[in-house]
Amino acid sequence: MIKTVFIDIDNTLLDFNKNSALAMNLAFQKNGLEFKEEYGKTFIKINDRLWDAFERQELTRAEIYEVRYKLILKELGLIGDHDKIEREYREFLFNCAEKVDGAEEILEYLSKKYRLFAASNAIKETQLNRLNKAGFLHYFDDVVVSAQVGVGKPSKQFFDACLEIAKCKKEDAIMLGDSLSADIKGAYGVGIKSIWYNHNAKLEPIEKLYDYKIDKLTEIKNIL
Ligand SMILES: [Mg+2]
Repeated sequence: MIKTVFIDIDNTLLDFNKNSALAMNLAFQKNGLEFKEEYGKTFIKINDRLWDAFERQELTRAEIYEVRYKLILKELGLIGDHDKIEREYREFLFNCAEKVDGAEEILEYLSKKYRLFAASNAIKETQLNRLNKAGFLHYFDDVVVSAQVGVGKPSKQFFDACLEIAKCKKEDAIMLGDSLSADIKGAYGVGIKSIWYNHNAKLEPIEKLYDYKIDKLTEIKNIL
């Protein structure tokens, strides 16, 4: 019987596509660079590639920060201090908490029936601040992040740590997240059921590792 729900944060509860574009816009302005809407897509493309490497444990968080804006500026053909822009981007992102549609409604709904734990490849302070800003923090028993565990999703170690922190058996848990490679593959690897929230309208994967799929967060009420 499901008692605990692990929930990813970015692009599941908080709209990372919007938040990252907003933070990038502010960092560019501060550095005298013009920001165009399509730059947000360039950020997502490069950022996704880097976090894919993080998931494979080929890059560390610090290494991502070192190269991310160097690659982005190069791709956009812009010249700027990439270290400074990276730092300022993260400072702005710290306070960006645009919500995904339906996030509040499902947290309200789920929190009445289950214990909720956020599970995120991120830094604790940032995620606590952003969840708090969105008015979501009080729904959670705890927030588990990769920085505190040492490794992130999809590693077994991360999900084992989640179960240990939640004092929960794997059969009694379910993972909700948008990332097939981090949330779904990771949960599958340790035998935790999962719900894939197809936030970015991706194509059906060849290897179906999730138990349920939703296109809107509120569809979760048909499952849990
Ligand atoms: Mg996510």
